[in-house]
Amino acid sequence: MKKWVYRFHEGNASMKALLGGKGANLAEMTRLGLPVPPGFTITTQACRFFQETKKFPSDMEKQVLSALKALEQSTGKKFGDVKNPLLLSVRSGAPISMPGMMDTILNLGLNQKTLKGLTALTGNKRFCQDAYRRFIQMFGKIVLKIPAEKFEKIIEEKKKERKVKLDTELDAKDLAQIARKFKKLVKKETGKEFPVDPYQQLRRAIKAVFASWNTKRAVEYRRFHKIADDLGTAVNIQTMVFGNMGKTSATGVAFTRDPRSGERRLFGEYLLNAQGEDVVAGIRTPNKIADMAQQLPQVYKQLVKICQKLEKHYRDVQDVEFTIENGKLWMLQTRTGKRTAAAAVKIAVDLCQEGIITKKEAVKRIKPQQIEQLLHPTIDLKAKIKVIAKGINASPGAASGQVVFDAETAKSWSEVGKKVILVRPETNPDDVPGMLSSQGVLTARGGMTSHAAVVARGLGKPCVAGCEGIKIDLIRKKFKAGNIEVKQGDIISINGSTGEVILGKAPLIEPMMTKEFKTILSWADEIRRLGVWANADNPKDAKRARELGAEGIGLCRTEHMFFGPKRRPLVQKMIMSKTVEEREKYLAKLLPFQRKDFEEIFKVMNGLPVIIRLIDPPMHEFLPRFADVLAEVVELRCKGKNPRALKQKEKLLSTIESLSETNPMLGLRGCRTGIIYPEISQMQVRAIFEAACRMSKKGVKVKPEVMIPLVSHVNELKIERKRLEEIAKKVMEKHKVKIDYKFGTMIEVPRAALTADRIAKYAQFFSFGTNDLTQMTFGISRDDAEGKFLFPYIEKGLLTKNPFETLDTEGVGKLIEMAVAKGRLVRSNLEIGICGEHGGDPQSIAFCHKAHLSYVSCSPFRVPVARLAAAHAALTKS
Ligand code: PEP
Ligand code: MG
Repeated sequence: MKKWVYRFHEGNASMKALLGGKGANLAEMTRLGLPVPPGFTITTQACRFFQETKKFPSDMEKQVLSALKALEQSTGKKFGDVKNPLLLSVRSGAPISMPGMMDTILNLGLNQKTLKGLTALTGNKRFCQDAYRRFIQMFGKIVLKIPAEKFEKIIEEKKKERKVKLDTELDAKDLAQIARKFKKLVKKETGKEFPVDPYQQLRRAIKAVFASWNTKRAVEYRRFHKIADDLGTAVNIQTMVFGNMGKTSATGVAFTRDPRSGERRLFGEYLLNAQGEDVVAGIRTPNKIADMAQQLPQVYKQLVKICQKLEKHYRDVQDVEFTIENGKLWMLQTRTGKRTAAAAVKIAVDLCQEGIITKKEAVKRIKPQQIEQLLHPTIDLKAKIKVIAKGINASPGAASGQVVFDAETAKSWSEVGKKVILVRPETNPDDVPGMLSSQGVLTARGGMTSHAAVVARGLGKPCVAGCEGIKIDLIRKKFKAGNIEVKQGDIISINGSTGEVILGKAPLIEPMMTKEFKTILSWADEIRRLGVWANADNPKDAKRARELGAEGIGLCRTEHMFFGPKRRPLVQKMIMSKTVEEREKYLAKLLPFQRKDFEEIFKVMNGLPVIIRLIDPPMHEFLPRFADVLAEVVELRCKGKNPRALKQKEKLLSTIESLSETNPMLGLRGCRTGIIYPEISQMQVRAIFEAACRMSKKGVKVKPEVMIPLVSHVNELKIERKRLEEIAKKVMEKHKVKIDYKFGTMIEVPRAALTADRIAKYAQFFSFGTNDLTQMTFGISRDDAEGKFLFPYIEKGLLTKNPFETLDTEGVGKLIEMAVAKGRLVRSNLEIGICGEHGGDPQSIAFCHKAHLSYVSCSPFRVPVARLAAAHAALTKS
């Protein structure tokens, strides 16, 4: 005979699939000898049988009756007995918690006769009448499907008639009248009397709980949380205990530690003389659990002890429900307590230090995504906010400030102490000073790897990108979100962790790197194999990266050093030069700037490797936009007053035109620039090695690694490396300093991955530029796809994830694996990393671990996330 029913002492915590979470934990608490009201559980299998056949399994009812007999024996009460009636609670309990989604019936077994018995037994008329009306109400709503409002209305009318506000102010007589009216309502609504036979009540209640698995809200909840529909719910049938029996009775909930901070103290609430639903209903304000130490000191001591025992047993923080009946404590539920990210970190470290869990378990318990919250200000969840638009959550954290629409205003306003949010259609390198001056960035276009997203992440500033719901009017300096208009100077908030744009100033909570946070990361470091480096373009970022635990710089984008008021005019003149000599003249002026930047970065990274990438973007990116210059030329022509300025602008316009390309991403960029204009990369390498020699002489340990970008054919690397290494050697000879250096390349073109063995002959390191590699493998533009068709693709289920955010392991990943294998075949000690945005994404990091990369490199603020994710990857058995 199949077992459909388990008495509590027959189950245990590992039987969640069969007994549901609640049932398995009630069984476990019973086995631990804790005071659990006796009961039994009908399995999820029986529920599944019921869902398929709309019938109970044939021998289930027999098993229920025999479990009920046992219950009668252990309690000394009898179901339906007039003198000493056994009352039951009937509760749902799925294998995965679905709070509040399914139904519960309390006080089952009551009818006029048993009510009398209960009254005689307790001597508490009001309590008994209250229990009776609650039962009719719950049964009426859940089993008989009578709308809840109809019951509420009867109670409200009674309260009005008696001129009272609270249910608790109604006396036994009032409640008895209410019960009578409830029964009339049932007759009217169903055409039948309210069922008096306790066995019939029980059968129908079990059926209703089974059926509640498929209510609309339960189904929707499962869809949202991706819970399988065929799990089914168990039904827990348990002896009733009453928290509403008088002044020494109570009901409450408690966490074994504070779920907000992780502090080690009992945290929770209770209500004297109440049933569980009163706490949920929020009619009376519950007391803090600490007050129980005075009100019910003995029980409080027992509860503290039980909580400690449960926590030790389950080896994690528990969230418990309890009832006190006439001074006796009963445990009704225990489950793992949900907690904030900050609490999760503190709890994991404390539990390890208390000897309850190991370091590995502590590290495993913290989700890498979760700790990202801890590094950025967050919006106070308790606050009321008005969300006016939603974009891509491009860089986490939250910020508030006055809206500005251009970098210059951002700078000038911030210089006079204003906090600003830069709002742009999209950003380009010109906007960087404005981004630096603002609290956060909001763009209408662009995705996860857009300029705004990459730079904001690097700066650790929140960014909402690709927010197509806002219509920006740069001329009138305002934007519209639906019918809300936001003007320059108005205050908005952005939440880069959720993509929300909020009207007004949302209250923020500042981040803190706590002692426990540092501890958990240091444990992660002991576990991980992957190195964690950072992408940093300036000394400030490098410093932050080091503070957050970066072990090197995996990508320093040198073109970011070409902006700024003093440098940019030189860069433009260099680009517009007609001869090599002229170009070299301006490059010579740029060299000291680059050298100084490198010197400072070497100093910060003392002893750690620094990968410096030679110039990568197409030249036109350093020049103003064609349309803007054209407008200026037209204006100068019309006015005709300044022929000199007109000539200059016309020259600029023709240069921009000559540099323009139909597909700049596939054009003259990366190593191609260095090959066509060798003097540019020459200057950069000279600056790198001069900086290295100078710092080395000052006692700094420098380890430059020169990275040649966008190589697709080995010959590109071969000739570039030869030419540039000669310069490096000359500089070292001149300074009489030997530097520990490397030359290597980025693998960001599929052809480079396919021919990685040839390339490895000339590369001492590889770094996967997965932004470009993803773009080129999919053949989709990283600047446009996310705003245009990528998200509809995800919605339609064509892609499960954004490949610019989480590495496409099936396609791009295959190229990576192939390149790793081919590269290491030729050069076994090849250093291999990843520096695309995927380097900070936990799932992509897990792939990098499996693919045997040497390190991942990500923006400084994601370094802690990467350290933890790398440890998780090492702990996961493949
Ligand atoms: C890349 O392509 O992954 C990369 C890091 O380079 P960038 O984003 O500068 O093109
Ligand atoms: Mg690239």
